[in-house]
Amino acid sequence: MNHDDIQTRLSALIDDELPQDEAALIRTHLNDCETCREAYASLLAMSTWIQRDAVTPVPPGLAAQLAASIGPAHTSVPLPRTTPRPEPKRGWFWPGVTGLGGLLAGAALMFVLLPLWQPQQDTLTQALLSGHIRALQVDHLSDVISTDQHTVKPWFAGKLDFSPPVHDLVADGFPLAGGRLDYLQQRPVAVLNYRYRLHVIEVYAWPASGKPATGVTLQTRQGYQILGWQQEGMNMWAVSDLNGTDLQRFAGLLQKAGAPG
Ligand SMILES: [Zn+2]
Repeated sequence: MNHDDIQTRLSALIDDELPQDEAALIRTHLNDCETCREAYASLLAMSTWIQRDAVTPVPPGLAAQLAASIGPAHTSVPLPRTTPRPEPKRGWFWPGVTGLGGLLAGAALMFVLLPLWQPQQDTLTQALLSGHIRALQVDHLSDVISTDQHTVKPWFAGKLDFSPPVHDLVADGFPLAGGRLDYLQQRPVAVLNYRYRLHVIEVYAWPASGKPATGVTLQTRQGYQILGWQQEGMNMWAVSDLNGTDLQRFAGLLQKAGAPG
């Protein structure tokens, strides 16, 4: 077998679908050939990635459309994750698609679908950041402008089906400045607006719906810090250009203010 023969069979090797003698032959070749070994490694990584991360359902219409554009070999397109172990002699990507052509189609498909498969957290972070930047751009940080938590909290009543935690931290240098509504993850959310010196901190809040606490996460994106935690039954996400240390201190103070007793 030459390099092409080998590389054509790599996906079948990964799926454990080759006759033993053929698999052994390929493994021997992989030991000696760096080019094929690299091809094998990247295929393996792709396969692992798909099995692990490709969990977001693809809209049925899109899947069918893509299937049609790949070729006539199949009529239905199960998602990789929901596909049972492939039957023998079939690629791990799509039923009926085998060999290098199938792999290339798979790679192209993956490229097209990649944005749909971003981990959920990533999408959330991006949405939070977009919301924050949009609010800054249009200078619309607050629909209710008040430093009084007893004004801000009732403002949300009737606009939301939950009551966000509103605590003023003026004594700690983080005065409340107001609140607004935003729309995130297919639901309206409360946004609280705090200040720290010349910095704006926005806190997004919506019910955690009994989901287990995920702990505190801090991410930096495009110069903004995005800090997530849970308190008082709510998902809380702070977005600010404030440094991570001060933002974490702020979150700690909010949690303390919301703690019973
Ligand atoms: Zn080779």
